[in-house]
This record gives sequence, C-alpha cells and structure tokens, in this order.
Amino acid sequence: MLDGEGPLTPLAGCTDLYVALNFGTLKESSFLNLWSLDELRRIEVRGTVLSIGALCTYTQIIESRPVRARLPMLVAASKEIGGPQIQNRGTIGGNVANASPAGDTLPILAATDAMLLLKSAGGERRVPFNEFYTGYRRSVLRSNELIAAVEIPAVKGRQWFRKVGTRAAQAISKVVMAGVDPGRGIAPRIAIGSVAPTVVRLPSTEAALASGAPIVDAQRILLDEIAPIDDVRSTAEYRRRVAANLLADFWRKRARE
Ligand SMILES: Cc1cc2nc3c(=O)[nH]c(=O)nc-3n(C[C@H](O)[C@H](O)[C@H](O)COP(=O)(O)OP(=O)(O)OC[C@H]3O[C@@H](n4cnc5c(N)ncnc54)[C@H](O)[C@@H]3O)c2cc1C
Repeated sequence: MLDGEGPLTPLAGCTDLYVALNFGTLKESSFLNLWSLDELRRIEVRGTVLSIGALCTYTQIIESRPVRARLPMLVAASKEIGGPQIQNRGTIGGNVANASPAGDTLPILAATDAMLLLKSAGGERRVPFNEFYTGYRRSVLRSNELIAAVEIPAVKGRQWFRKVGTRAAQAISKVVMAGVDPGRGIAPRIAIGSVAPTVVRLPSTEAALASGAPIVDAQRILLDEIAPIDDVRSTAEYRRRVAANLLADFWRKRARE
C-alpha cells in the first residue's frame, strides 16, 4: 500500500499524530493504520541482540522480561513516558519515527549503538540508529518504508538514564540523558536529547572521561557538543546547566560503585 497507494502516513498509537491533528499542523490526509500488524509487536533475543518490534508499546516494554534483564534503562524511561494511557498506546517505533529531539527512548538507542530494521515491499535494510536522523525532524526513512524493529546489541556495563521535565509524569523532557559505563578503562557511551536539533552522542565528552579528565573539563567539552535553544519548555541556559549536572551525576555514581 505504501508503494502503490501512497503517499500514506503510517499511524501506530497515534499519540503524536493526534496532537498534530488537533494543532492543525498535520498536512497529510491519507493514513495507513499499522495497529493490527502483530508481526511488529514481538520482543525477541536473537544471539546477542535484543530485538524490539516497532509497534511495542511502553507498557509491553515495561512488562517484558528480556527488556528488564538486558536493558533496564529502557524500562526506566518507559515508566516516565506520559502516563498509563500514553504508555498503553505509544510505541517505540512511533517515538523514533516522530523524530522529536525530546523523544525519551532516543538517547538510549544512541548510547547503545542500536540498529533500526527498516522494511518496504522491496526488501529490508539496517541503519545504525546514530545515522538515522539527518536534521531537525528529518531522517533517512523513505516514504515507502516502515520501521520494523529496533535491535540493541548486548550492553556491557552499568546503564544510567535521567529525564528532567516539569513533572514526574505527563511531561516532555527539558533534558534527557542516557549513559553506559563499561568500566575497566573502556570509554563510556553517553547520549543526550532536547539540547540540539536531533539526539546527540557525545564522542568528545566520552573520550575525555575515558582519558581520566576531571569532570569539570568533561562538562566544558559537553557544552561544546550541544546546542540547546530557548523554547516553550525551557531556556538554553537551563538546559546547559542541567546537561552538565547530569553528566556529573552519571560519572559520580560510577565512582561510588
Ligand atoms: C500526553 C502525552 C504525553 C507524552 N509524553 C511523552 C514522553 O514523556 N516522552 C516521549 O518521548 N514522548 C511523549 N509523548 C509523545 C508520544 O507519546 C511518543 O512519541 C510515542 O512513542 C509515539 O508513538 P505512537 O505509536 O503513538 O506514534 P504515532 O503518533 O502513531 O506516530 C508518530 C510518527 O511516527 C510515524 N510512525 C509510527 N510508527 C511508525 C513505523 N513503525 N514506521 C514508520 N513510521 C512510523 C507516524 O507516521 C508519525 O509520523 C507524549 C504524547 C502525549 C500526547
């Protein structure tokens, strides 16, 4: 249908699409309802890879044994997304495809070097999550493709997730960060959302921490790697301070363990 009857806008849980519809910012008028595609709802471990179908809701992720065992920070993030209604309808594929820099699962997928499985009538391809976005709300997803699954390689080391919003629930992030610290002198992997046009990995900050730089130096480097703006949810200055504080929190917790 995407090939022959397009352009069609896929709809999953509709928790982003309905907001756009209500605001009158949704230009599309033809939709493809994915909700009944149970094939896109599987959570599987294949070899060392955790595969989460694009239509998996946050509730499903929270309740999933393999996700709880292998990726507890995704469970933590899912519990903080919206409230129960949003968790029952919102999907991980929708979070990725919606391409908001504030999407709460995105720093986790960036920090774990996840892959996206994209499918069309013509076949499938895998795109590294860190190469998926090309700019503010733009990605390499083609109009005849669906996100079928996110694939997360085994994560070695401590996982850490923090979201800072106005409230503990029903709040879009002002800053959201995820980190993996393998320890033993191996560089941490850190990604941050809501502070640039897309979610960003922080390679220079990671390298600084790995080389033993003091946290204040790493915080300075972090501030060069992000480009927050003032908007309805927060100010650029607040986001800069919170981002630096979150980095310190991630790194200090490591020192205590
Ligand atoms: C009250 C409220 C609170 C919210 N709180 C949060 C929050 O705390 N954190 C957060 O990150 N988000 C939040 N959101 C945003 C939203 O719930 C999430 O982004 C959710 O994951 C979107 O998933 P969905 O299935 O509803 O997507 P939809 O609205 O169905 O689709 C979103 C976009 O993705 C596309 N799409 C969906 N699935 C696919 C697919 N498989 N392949 C290709 N394209 C696809 C659609 O065409 C559309 O462009 C909130 C929304 C509301 C209304």
